[in-house]
This record gives sequence, C-alpha cells and structure tokens, in this order.
Amino acid sequence: MRSLSLDELFGLLSTVQWSPADLARLREWIANIANPAECIAVIEQAAAGRPCPHCGCAMKHRCGQASGLQRFRCLGCRRSHNALTGTPLARLRKKERWLPYLQCVLESRTVRDAARVVGVHRTTSFRWRHRFVPGAMRDRPKMLSAIVEADETYRLESQKGSRKLTRPPRQRGGVARRRGINHEHDCLLVARDRNHQTLDFHTGRGQVTAKQLHRCLRPVLPADALLISDGAIAYRHFAAQAGITHEFMNVKAGVRARGAIHIQNVNGWHSRFKSWLVRFRGVASRYLINYSGWQRILDAHRLTTPIHLLCAAAQLS
Ligand SMILES: [Zn+2]
Repeated sequence: MRSLSLDELFGLLSTVQWSPADLARLREWIANIANPAECIAVIEQAAAGRPCPHCGCAMKHRCGQASGLQRFRCLGCRRSHNALTGTPLARLRKKERWLPYLQCVLESRTVRDAARVVGVHRTTSFRWRHRFVPGAMRDRPKMLSAIVEADETYRLESQKGSRKLTRPPRQRGGVARRRGINHEHDCLLVARDRNHQTLDFHTGRGQVTAKQLHRCLRPVLPADALLISDGAIAYRHFAAQAGITHEFMNVKAGVRARGAIHIQNVNGWHSRFKSWLVRFRGVASRYLINYSGWQRILDAHRLTTPIHLLCAAAQLS
C-alpha cells in the first residue's frame, strides 16, 4: 500500500466526525509525539565532560556510536563507555519515548495508563518506572534544618506481584490478623523541616524503634535541631541518646499543637501521600520507598519537567 502524504492525511482527518472522547485521544496522541533526537541531545549535553565511569580518568577519545549515543574509549583503562554507562538508565531502549514517559511520571499515571499513552508494553512501562523513579529519588536533601517534625505512617505489608507468598493469602484483601500496629505493617518514617525539605525512610516492619530512628535521623539532624514528634517512647529514647532537643505532642490525649510545636506539616504530607497512593490500588512492600520517593519528588516541586526528571534519574544533574 502506498503511504499517504500529509495533505491526504489531513484531508481524510477533516472528514471524520469527532466525538469529544476521540478529540481528547487525538490531542493526547499529538502531545506525545516526541522528537527522537531530543532525549539523546539532553543526555549527551548533561553528561559532557563526565570522566570515565570505570576508572575516573578524564582522557578519552570518540569511538563510534551505539544505541544513538556517542561511544568513548578511555585512555586510562582502555574500556569503552557512553553517557549512560554506570547510571540506572544504562541499556534501557526506546529513548525516543523516554520524555513522554517521564511526563506520565509527572502526571502520576499508572503502569497500564502510561503504557497506553506512550505506546510501550506494560512490562516495559513497569521496568521503566522502577528505573526512572529510584534514580530521580536520589535528589534528596542531605540535611534538614532547625525545626524538624517526624512521624510514621503504617501500611499493611503487601506482596503484590510476588509469585510465592511467604504467608497464607488474606481473604478480601487489606485486613490485618491482629489489631494495632505489628509485624504485618510496614513503617514509613517521614521527617520534614519548616522549609518543607522532606526525607522518607522505610524502616521495616512493626513500630519504629529508637535504634531505627538513630540510623535514619541522626545523620540528617544538625546538632542544634529541635525535633518534634508524637508521644511514642522511641523518639524520647532516641533524642535523649543523641542529645537532640526534643518536644512531643501527646496526640493520644487530644493535644495537637502548642503554638509552633506541632507535627501538622508531616501529617499533611502523610495524608497527601495516602490519597495519592489510592490510584495504584495497593503497592508491594518492596516498592513502598519508590512510591514515597515519587510522591516526595512531586510534592517538592523541584523536578517539574521531563528533562529535569531525566537528568536526575540518569544522575547527570
Ligand atoms: Zn577508564
């Protein structure tokens, strides 16, 4: 069959009776037509001058192209590399679809929905999500400052997607066997300062312990920080051991704030996270930190375009 010229195609399109749903689909399709060269250009530009990822040597010469990227040979170790060698995005294919896919990440689309919009298979969409998101999540503050609120949120442990369950399946989904927080629950610890810098930690199963708080919070709290938490004993033990100034709210007794002493910023983050998570209909425990990292990126409004996300994910920024 002869291929249509653009004029003929437009002629045909203008005879179609478009429903609002069809028009929406057409607009979405046009918006996702990517210039195949754009993604490559962004990667090459961001990685310009990067030393050899194998040995750190800066001396290299060009040696052909592979998968659309310039290849280099290192004069130190003689091994070859390209702009993505050693990054989470090495060896992923179909670069022309990466920027539209990252737009789907910014729009919090599900695996299935992003696959449909970008025109890749669902398994590709899944694989890309768990490469791009963990890469971009490394964009996190090194330290929090001044007043730091910390609190945990618990989610029932989930083995979604696992071929072999390590426990009997739950009847009718999300109900724990016992009441209260126990080892059936994953703990997500969130610390947030009053400049809205946020850090998240999956501490494991069950109630957070002073030891876990030490491991997660000690490195990111400056010596003069004021830590605010609820009345859980683990925070008091941790703060006393670490010599951190600490105030706590007796939330169980109904005390939610004493002037500036409250944990409403971190609780607000938790509630945004939980309502954002609903669209994914349950997430596996082993990916919980990826989802909280994803929400942290969106909530911080720092990486706001597909190109920002691409550079962060490839660790080129
Ligand atoms: Zn080298």
